[in-house]
Amino acid sequence: MGSSLLRVAYAFWVLATPHLFSPSAAEAQERTRIDFDAVPTIHFPAGSRVVSAYPAFEDYAHMLFDLCDALKLSSKECSIFPMNAKLGGNALATLVDGNRIIVYDRELSGQVGYDGAEMIIAHELGHHRCGHLGKAADTTHELQADAFAGAAARLRGKTLKDALSAVPLFSKRPGRTHPSSAARVAAITAGWNNPEAGRACRLPD
Ligand SMILES: [Zn+2]
Repeated sequence: MGSSLLRVAYAFWVLATPHLFSPSAAEAQERTRIDFDAVPTIHFPAGSRVVSAYPAFEDYAHMLFDLCDALKLSSKECSIFPMNAKLGGNALATLVDGNRIIVYDRELSGQVGYDGAEMIIAHELGHHRCGHLGKAADTTHELQADAFAGAAARLRGKTLKDALSAVPLFSKRPGRTHPSSAARVAAITAGWNNPEAGRACRLPD
């Protein structure tokens, strides 16, 4: 438990001071207590606004680490920093100074519950793992991230119903770059049915 919290603290430290990103700094950080109230947030553009993000609450950090474990990702492959921010009920995967981060708006949890929150984080993890960052928005990318999330749910031992628990949100908030809810349900289901394919970001023919 404690180590995950420290990983989050370290994540923030790296974001705030990228020059300290080295193994020795990591070891030093493991022994350093950080007062979250005393560290500054990071700021990055989200659409036309600039929002502040802060290290994720422990439950969201655990969701990410549990997903990485279930997907058998190495610590390097899961070198992604979970953060929370007010995004108007959204989540995103992005890069800050070369560091991979996932930002999750806690407001979503009231709408989709614990399983839905984990699926949204799994979807954003999929964007990182499927190599979508830095590329133009593409509806195929969304379906690959959905299939990845479906696979993650299956590998976490969740039911297909659990895997689909964020779906009500899809129809309520369709994005310009996002496929139809039906297509997304199909992609999540395909990933859940064939987790090896979904984990590899493959969609059915
Ligand atoms: Zn997406």
